[in-house]
This record gives sequence, C-alpha cells and structure tokens, in this order.
Amino acid sequence: MKIFVFSDVHANLTALEAALADAGAVDAYWFLGDLVGYGPDPNACVARVQALPNLVRVLGNHDAAVLGKMPLDWFNDEAQRLILWTREQLNEANLTFLAAAPEQTVQDDVTLVHGSPRSPVTEYILTAEVAATAFRHFHTDFCFAGHTHQPVRWQQTQGRVHRHSAEAGTPLHLVPRAILNAGSVGQPRDGDPRASYALYDPEAHVWEWRRVAYDIAAVQKRMAEKGLSAMNAERLTIGR
Ligand code: ZN
Repeated sequence: MKIFVFSDVHANLTALEAALADAGAVDAYWFLGDLVGYGPDPNACVARVQALPNLVRVLGNHDAAVLGKMPLDWFNDEAQRLILWTREQLNEANLTFLAAAPEQTVQDDVTLVHGSPRSPVTEYILTAEVAATAFRHFHTDFCFAGHTHQPVRWQQTQGRVHRHSAEAGTPLHLVPRAILNAGSVGQPRDGDPRASYALYDPEAHVWEWRRVAYDIAAVQKRMAEKGLSAMNAERLTIGR
C-alpha cells in the first residue's frame, strides 16, 4: 500500500501537478493542510485535491483564516492581503469543501495535523523543545505534520528528542515514536525550491521524502498577472 502524504500546497497548481505525476498511482492521499494562501490557483487546487480518491485531510491555518475561523492579525500584512484575495476568489462549493476539514485525525497508528498535536492548526514545531512537548499530546506511534514548510523528522528515543534532516529519495523505516514533516508542495522553505512530499507505506512503516522540480516561472507569471506579491513569487525561486 502506498500513500501520498503532502502539505502546504498554497494554491500552487503547477507544483501540485508535478508532485502528483511524480508519485504515479497510489492507494490514498493524506493532506496535512494549507491548500490555499500565497499562490495564484486557489479554486483549481481545491478542485484537484477534492477529486483525489481516498483523501484524508486536515485544516491548515491559511485555510482557517480564509474561512474566517482565525483572526487575520495572526498574519503579516502581505499574508492578510492574500487571505482576503483568496476568500474573494473561492467559489461557494470550494469554501464548503475547505470548511469540512477536521483539525486532526487518526489513521491507524498515525496522527495527522497541520501544525502540532498540542495546537493542531497553528503551532510550529521548529525546536526539539517544542517537539518534546508535542510528543505528550498524541498517543499514536507516529504523527505527520506540515506548517513549517521544512521536511524533517523528530525522533523520540528513551525520552529524548532528536532532529533528523530529511533525505529525499532514501526510504526510511520508521521506528516509534516519530513526528514526520512532509515539507511543502507549493512553497518550500528549506532552501530547496523543488516541491516536497512523501510516500508512505503504512504496512511496512516505510517513509520516503521526494523532491520534484516544476515550472516555477509559470507560477510566478500567474502571480504577476493576478497582482499577487512579487516577494512571495520570488521566494519560490530560492525555496525560502
Ligand atoms: Zn503553510
């Protein structure tokens, strides 16, 4: 069994299509939140993800903000502008689909959240201290998250938590307990501009990060045409 695990699409349809094509046929899709925000293709991305078979998903902070479920002042000025733009763009059916996402879900021995199990929609796991706290807030062997846009593994061993950098293309046999961040499809921030996602085999507990190059210039062109921020367009080139 093969599951496509992905997060932080952020309305970047070109990156999403590249990642889906790279994975080929899979049995299920687990989406870790932030389908919209930043990118030029909110309706197309919602429609594409909604149509995926065996989709399991959770709500991201940008999704929540677009739905009016989160105060806008949590975001910087530019992100606020993009959230309001996205809200205007999305049709009723797509807003309804976004609103139906739970804040977290458990699939067998995996907890799925956008941010962290302590605060599923908003908390960033960026340090071993925060990760250590996060381990106390879920009870499955594994937790899959997104939100930081940085693919990483937090491994808990004998009460200690260690950070392990992602190695794309190398299958990893998961050992309990661990928090895995799938990285970001539509706006990577680890210095590698390629779309990031993971393939997961839930029976063998094998996880593999994948990176896929896509046509960044095409996305930047659409962002410019739609009057979206040049800064957010530029960061796609550098992956920050
Ligand atoms: Zn995000």
